Amino acid sequence: MEKISVIVSCYNEEKALPLFYEEMERVRKEEFEEIAEFEYIFVNDGSKDNTLEIIKKLRERDEKVRYVSFSRNFGKEAAMYAGMEVAKGDLVTLMDADLQDPPSLLKKMYDVIKVEGYDTVATRRVTRKGEPPIRSFCARMFYKIINKISDIEMVDGARDYRLMKRQVADAIISLKEYNRYSKGLFSFVGFSTKWIEYENVERIAGETKWSFWKLFKYALEGITAFSTTPLILSSLLGIIFCIAAFIAIILIVIRTLIYGDPTSGWPSLVCIIVFVSGVQLFTIGIIGQYLSKTYLEVKKRPIYIIKETEEN
Ligand code: UDP
Ligand code: MG
Repeated sequence: MEKISVIVSCYNEEKALPLFYEEMERVRKEEFEEIAEFEYIFVNDGSKDNTLEIIKKLRERDEKVRYVSFSRNFGKEAAMYAGMEVAKGDLVTLMDADLQDPPSLLKKMYDVIKVEGYDTVATRRVTRKGEPPIRSFCARMFYKIINKISDIEMVDGARDYRLMKRQVADAIISLKEYNRYSKGLFSFVGFSTKWIEYENVERIAGETKWSFWKLFKYALEGITAFSTTPLILSSLLGIIFCIAAFIAIILIVIRTLIYGDPTSGWPSLVCIIVFVSGVQLFTIGIIGQYLSKTYLEVKKRPIYIIKETEEN
């Protein structure tokens, strides 16, 4: 029988985990009993609550449960990567612990791969119900911008919830970059992908770990990882300012020749200096973003560090 690996990244999910396990088991028994074997890989991403204890209890009860526990919080991207590395299944799925990625969709996704022959099935939510409006607005703006400036297609509302063939998971694992932006990485590796849409589901218990600031940084991550267009911006601005300055020089020379008075205009001079320094700092900031990402990449630090697994 084929094996399906269910990878669940968990950060402070003590409330949601038991509910997740119950629901996942229900789906497995009802829809997969005869079709496939399962393994659950819980990646404890440095939780500060009882998440690890709960995972260990599940492990005692159920041999299908495996786990990887990090030495500290490395972030969801690292957790998904670690899960894929240890997964042994022929099919691999990534899920959240809060049941926002409904296990009940799994059979439908499985059929898409088995019957329709796709390599991977991805999900996107068509509504953002239950989310603060400002967050939805920023998310939509982000997808508009990144799709304009990047060659890689990013799907608005895409979740990390996916089912994929082993081959796709291996391709993702082969991308060893430190700054990981999964939505882009999945686009990058290609393979035939079918998108399934569903209504947003609210988290079953606990609370979201994504503050606005964290999301903002993640968005920047996506832009620097998959587009170099912002770098062109500084060259463009440079050219525009040179042309403007050239025109201004000619105008001033003509004005001085006609009206005299070569020294007036101190306030406008200050405005110009402040404005141009602002533009310079802004573009240096952009270069700095890319430089800092490069800096972190060349250090080749590990993406995660494991403290314990079910084997030790
Ligand atoms: N998560 C994680 N590490 C983190 C933050 C989140 O492993 O540093 C996990 C979290 O436990 C959950 C999933 O990633 O299973 C999605 O997180 P969350 O529900 O907080 O995000 P949202 O659904 O609100 O975007
Ligand atoms: Mg969630």
